[in-house]
Amino acid sequence: MKITDVAALYLRLPTIKARTDSSQDTLLVRVDTDAGVTGWGEVDGCPWVAKAIIDAPMSHTLVTGLRNLLVGEDPMDVERLWTKMYEGTLYYGREGAVIQAMAGVDLALWDIKGKALDQPVWRLLGGRYRDRLRVYSSNMFQFTAEETADRLRKAKDEGFTAVKFGWEPFGRDAATDCAYLEALRKAGGDDYDIMVDVGLIWDAPTTIQRARLFEPYDLTWIEEPMHPDNLAGYKKVSDNIVQRLAAGEEECTQRGFARLIEEGGIGLAQIDLTRCGLTQAMKIADHAAQKGVMVANHNFTTDLNTAASLTFLAAVPNALMLEYCVEPSEISRNLARKPFRQHDGYMAVPEEPGLGFEPNFETIETYLVEAL
Ligand SMILES: [Mg+2]
Repeated sequence: MKITDVAALYLRLPTIKARTDSSQDTLLVRVDTDAGVTGWGEVDGCPWVAKAIIDAPMSHTLVTGLRNLLVGEDPMDVERLWTKMYEGTLYYGREGAVIQAMAGVDLALWDIKGKALDQPVWRLLGGRYRDRLRVYSSNMFQFTAEETADRLRKAKDEGFTAVKFGWEPFGRDAATDCAYLEALRKAGGDDYDIMVDVGLIWDAPTTIQRARLFEPYDLTWIEEPMHPDNLAGYKKVSDNIVQRLAAGEEECTQRGFARLIEEGGIGLAQIDLTRCGLTQAMKIADHAAQKGVMVANHNFTTDLNTAASLTFLAAVPNALMLEYCVEPSEISRNLARKPFRQHDGYMAVPEEPGLGFEPNFETIETYLVEAL
């Protein structure tokens, strides 16, 4: 079997709001083969940049586009092709956008491998530790405490047993933050898992002060209170708060996660499959397991990410919970022919060959952007 094409498809909602909400657009990666098997991947990064990284022609052996490196190759050699892409982009890659573009390709290659062998990908990764994942409803903070608590009540009514709220307007002052958490704890009751994603806006002293104030609200984790480069801050915070400290969604390599775990002292590594790819994600989870750190996925895009995340979290021993974005983006909601659904707070791990994702071509056609 040989790769015949690598296509990057940019999908975008007609209107993009200036919020930290990455469910508004996405980049799909489609890898075609001469055996008629097609694999699908996704990139949650800057879609137009990732597309250019895939489409670019060769400048020289250390600067080339991903399609140029892959056409004619055997898609079953997923790990070797990861190395080939890493080496063929060395002068402009190694981290960030290039690894994110590689992640989309890597997911598509795993999807092909599973389909070609007629196996779900988790079996190719060594088998699954679980056939379903506890899933949490992942939300943006609403602009009042009561509207935010309404979101929790809705999640609870739907069967979710855990909920996360993130980003603006949370974090600006202690009294407002406590009002939000008070409303949420009241709506959830004593045993409901509530997580907060601060959105990178505090320094270490503020985080420690807030975390102490938040102790009565019994948060399951506090996510990304500080900038991801502030490793000394993460270390100071992790040594001084009782809550689990979560981070990692900006990282795309094992090297980046190793820094957060070893130097930053985080207690939950959040891995976005559409930024790391499955090949790196398995190495990151193994590294985390060796350090006694749990992993979760990061997912604020589509059900392709959900399929990859379920596959990944099923196949590692140290998985905590599945993130599922409930923002009502039409791209997120309708990209899969069979959208994933939770039942009683759990989501089933796909049994189909490949990653367990098949696209809804109507959605692709509706939101595909041909050129800017
Ligand atoms: Mg986050």
